[in-house]
Amino acid sequence: MRSLVALKPWRPAAFSPSRLLPLIPLLLAAFLPFSLAAQATAQPPASADPVVALVGRLDLEKYKATIKGLTQFGDRRQGTDRNRAAVDWIEAQLKSYGCPTERIKYVYDPPPPTPGGGRGRGNTDLAVGGGRPRGIRTPTGVNNDPMEQPNEKLRQLNMQPTTPGPREEVYCTKVGTTRPDEMYIVGGHMDGHGWGEAANDDGSGTALVMELARVFSSPDVQTERTIRFALWNNEETGLNGARAYVEQRQALQGKEDPPGSRRYPEPKWLGMIQHDMMMFDHGMPRADGTISPEQRPEADVNIEFQSNSKMAAGSQALAWTLHAANAKYATDYPAAVGPHMTNTDSTPFMDIVPAISVRENERGVQIGSGWDPQWHQPTDLYTTYSDKDFRLGLNAAQTTLGAVATLTGATLKK
Ligand SMILES: [Zn+2]
Repeated sequence: MRSLVALKPWRPAAFSPSRLLPLIPLLLAAFLPFSLAAQATAQPPASADPVVALVGRLDLEKYKATIKGLTQFGDRRQGTDRNRAAVDWIEAQLKSYGCPTERIKYVYDPPPPTPGGGRGRGNTDLAVGGGRPRGIRTPTGVNNDPMEQPNEKLRQLNMQPTTPGPREEVYCTKVGTTRPDEMYIVGGHMDGHGWGEAANDDGSGTALVMELARVFSSPDVQTERTIRFALWNNEETGLNGARAYVEQRQALQGKEDPPGSRRYPEPKWLGMIQHDMMMFDHGMPRADGTISPEQRPEADVNIEFQSNSKMAAGSQALAWTLHAANAKYATDYPAAVGPHMTNTDSTPFMDIVPAISVRENERGVQIGSGWDPQWHQPTDLYTTYSDKDFRLGLNAAQTTLGAVATLTGATLKK
C-alpha cells in the first residue's frame, strides 16, 4: 500500500471517491494473484466459505461452561458412580444439541498389577512415542493420595474407589447426506484420575468434542459425509474404551443395515482425530523445576501422527490437513505437526485408518518431561486455568472443526 500512496500523493482535504478511480487497475493487479490462487484450488471467497460461519459458532464462554459442567463430577474416574453420572450428563447434552446418541458396552477386568512395576521402555534414551527429550526435565506421575487434595468437598466427591466390571461410553452421530456410508471419528476421553477435577485431562478435550457436536448438529448444517463424536471411557487404564469400540465395530464398517435402507450403523472409517489435554502450553520447566504461570505467547496446538504405524502416510496427510485448517480458521494460536503420537485413544485405530491426536504439547517429549505440572494431579481444577489457557483449547476446536467441516463437505442450508 505504501507504493500506491507514493504514486498518488494523499491529500485528505481534496479527497473524493472519484480520485480513487485511476487506482483501480493497480488494486486489481495487487489482488489478482490471490484470486487466481483461490480459483486454482476451487475455494470460495472467505465471505462465502460456510466453514468460516461454522467456526464462528464456537465460543470461548460456551467452551468454558462445558468444561465447568464436566468438573461437577470430580475426576470422573472409570468404574465409579461419578464416572457413570458424567456419561449420563454428556449424553443428555449431546441429545439437547440434536445429536442422536448410542452407547458402547464392555467389561473392564484389569489384570493384577505386575510385580516390579511392569514393562520398562528398554535400553533407550527416547521418550515414549519415539521422540528425543531435550532440555530440563521434571518427574511426572499419577497422584493416588486423597490427602493431596486440600479441598475437602472435592476430596469427598472423588472418594469412591473404582471397581472392575461393566462399563459404558457414549457417542453421537451426524449422518452425511450423500455419503452416509463414510465417516470421520472425532474423539476425546471423558475419564480422568488424580484427585482433582480432570479439567484439562481431559475435560478440555471432551468439551471440544461436545462443542463440535453442538455446531455440526444445528438443523441448518449439512455434511456430505458422516461424523461421529465419541467420548471414550477407560483411557487412563490403557485405552480400553477405544479398544472396545474397535473390537466391536471394525467389522461392521460400511455395511448397510437393513439392506436397501441407506442406513449405515458403522460407516467406513476415513480417519480418527483424538483430543487430549488442550489448554496448557506454558513452556519447558525452568532450571529450578518451576513453570511459568502464564500461557507462553508461542503456545501452539500440537498435532501428532505415529511414524511407526501402518497408516503413517495417511495419518500424516490428515495431520497436515488440520495444520492447514489451523492457518485458515484458528484465531490466536498456530499448529505444529510431529511424528510421535502415543498414549492416546487414536492408537487402537492407527494401523487400520489414518489416526492423529491433537494436544497442548507433544505427549512424549514435552508432557512426558514435565511441561504440564497439573497432569494427573489434584491441581487439575477449573480454577487453575486462565482465559489464555481456555483459548488454546478453543483454537484447537477451531482447527478440528475447520478440518472436519472441509473433509465432510459441510454447508449451511439457505
Ligand atoms: Zn488424557
